[in-house]
Amino acid sequence: MDKNKIAVIYGQDMGNMVQKLMEHANIAGELRDGMTIGIKPNLVVAKKPDSGATTHTELICGVIEYLQSHGKFDITIMEGSWVGDSTKRAFSVCGYHDIAAKYGVKLLDLKGDSFKSYGGINVCDAPMNVDYLINMPVLKGHCQTTMTCALKNMKGCIPDREKRRFHTQGLHQPIAKLGTILKPNLTIVDGICGDLDFEEGGNPIPMNRVLLGYDSVLIDTCVCAMMGIDLDEVPYIEMAARMGAGSMDFTDDTLEELNDASGAGRMPVLSRRAKALGRHVEEKDACSACYGSLIHALYRLDEMGRLGWLDDKVCIGQGFRGMENCGNLGVGNCTKGCKYSLGGCPPRADQIMEFLQDHMG
Ligand code: SF4
Repeated sequence: MDKNKIAVIYGQDMGNMVQKLMEHANIAGELRDGMTIGIKPNLVVAKKPDSGATTHTELICGVIEYLQSHGKFDITIMEGSWVGDSTKRAFSVCGYHDIAAKYGVKLLDLKGDSFKSYGGINVCDAPMNVDYLINMPVLKGHCQTTMTCALKNMKGCIPDREKRRFHTQGLHQPIAKLGTILKPNLTIVDGICGDLDFEEGGNPIPMNRVLLGYDSVLIDTCVCAMMGIDLDEVPYIEMAARMGAGSMDFTDDTLEELNDASGAGRMPVLSRRAKALGRHVEEKDACSACYGSLIHALYRLDEMGRLGWLDDKVCIGQGFRGMENCGNLGVGNCTKGCKYSLGGCPPRADQIMEFLQDHMG
């Protein structure tokens, strides 16, 4: 797989999905026996992954199983939770001790790791020194930086004192600079059910997708499109690109979809916030991937104060397939029978936003 591509797979069978992605990208071809490999999940707080805050353990297990079936490696799962929470507690709550015992891998709390300064930014030694670093962020919103994914997940690799200093510097500039210092070899994004608003979870939105890519800047650019976030709202992405951390050249050709989005399955139970936005939706058997994109778009329109302009409910879901005159506005290939329908399977949130704004009262 080209390094300037991003692969995506839809579904709920996380272990299988992540292994298929790694096979597709032939990750084994980049490895050799004896390598030290670091896996950096998002364990910002000690909350289970279904809260929308932390990386699903099924994905971590899938990555380890793929690695161990292709060679002998010295694998360490490494993380430093945010200031105010304990990484050890997060390891415990999220079941990482069981993973360590089952696969014979190590756990490292980066809060206790040694560190060095790189151009004025202190970075922990362990992630800098492994032969191969796998970043495994959660696709989610953030109350200060609007979104958090590949670039910002690296903030778990700096000491707590440095995390505090990042906040005094407005976050964006130091996150961008960190992106030039600590570049993971591979990024696997947990887009199963990230929270829209807060990195600490509580409002999970099912999207049932996992992404794999190499360039953190490109991945964050792609994720903004998926969440309907304007890049201007996340200045660290462009800053990182300008500093040479990666490319923002995301086009429709960047994504390699490994399966049909209907593999994402039916929508699971939604959070309160998502349910509230659901009053604008006419849903019949929608795939989670599709519905998640629509909810992200509605959320952004609500933030912009534009949701009140939406006169009609938006049709979505496989239940509209083959129907004629089924509504005014429809999202996804299944709603071709609506008067105005946006194609895509699933369409991205940014495409849905543009479509809805074009058809608002
Ligand atoms: S367009 Fe239809 S099949 Fe495709 S993701 Fe949406 S609901 Fe599922």
